Amino acid sequence: MKFELLQLEEDRIRYLLSGVTAAFANGIRRACMSEVPVLAIDEISLYDNTSVLFDEQISLRLGEVPLQAEDLNIFSLPEECQCGGTGCPGCRVDFMLSSEGPGVVYSREIQFTDPGVKPAFDKIPIVILGEGEKLVIEGYATKHVGKEHSKWQAGTLCGYKNLPGIEVADSCDGCGKCVEVCPRNVFVLEGGRAKATNILECSLCKLCIGACEPAAIKLTPVLDSFVVYIESSGSMPARDLVARASEEIKKRAEDLDAKLAELA
Ligand code: SF4
Ligand code: SF4
Ligand SMILES: [Zn+2]
Repeated sequence: MKFELLQLEEDRIRYLLSGVTAAFANGIRRACMSEVPVLAIDEISLYDNTSVLFDEQISLRLGEVPLQAEDLNIFSLPEECQCGGTGCPGCRVDFMLSSEGPGVVYSREIQFTDPGVKPAFDKIPIVILGEGEKLVIEGYATKHVGKEHSKWQAGTLCGYKNLPGIEVADSCDGCGKCVEVCPRNVFVLEGGRAKATNILECSLCKLCIGACEPAAIKLTPVLDSFVVYIESSGSMPARDLVARASEEIKKRAEDLDAKLAELA
């Protein structure tokens, strides 16, 4: 297996994975979306809500605010906690939100009792309060995975595609139609012929094939190479997200190995 980093930012990563199956590349993508545990607001008690939004809408909005923790490992999944899932500081973190209008209530006003936990973004709007309107809420966040509910989804936009292979044959007459139709600016004209220069951006849409009258373009996906794109919800850096997803897969493979060994 070969790994090549193509792009790395705090909230997104793009890399080229070669010498693997589609199932392997997809396994990491899926684990980023559904198997990496993060914190999310789970239960709330509304003491006052005179805003225009129903209690349920406020609850939904709070649940979808991505949360960051300085150390996620100090929290257990409720079902694995020593409290047996009834709730304790080991598996939940309490918060308070109290605001009075006029003004917009933003995510930064969610105050957790653990100073190491906070919303990933300060300015997610929760509700606009009019003059004298109030919102007073207490509640707690728990740690879970995206397959339980999308509010615990650590990876948001996660996808992959085969690495495109593009060749231009000698029959190219330099008409430039492929340059015109390609939405990803893959082709340039050079020396009276088309040349694919930006191959990683190709989406395999085949518009160039349809536009090329001499049928000079050969588009072949490389079957064991994948361009993988992962975007984090903000609850952790994208690099950590991929590392944790890989750890989850490794853990499962080891569990399976141990179970098979028991049967042997
Ligand atoms: S459309 Fe075909 S013939 Fe025209 S420049 Fe592109 S590759 Fe060459
Ligand atoms: S398949 Fe689509 S994106 Fe790729 S080079 Fe052709 S037109 Fe551009
Ligand atoms: Zn607990």
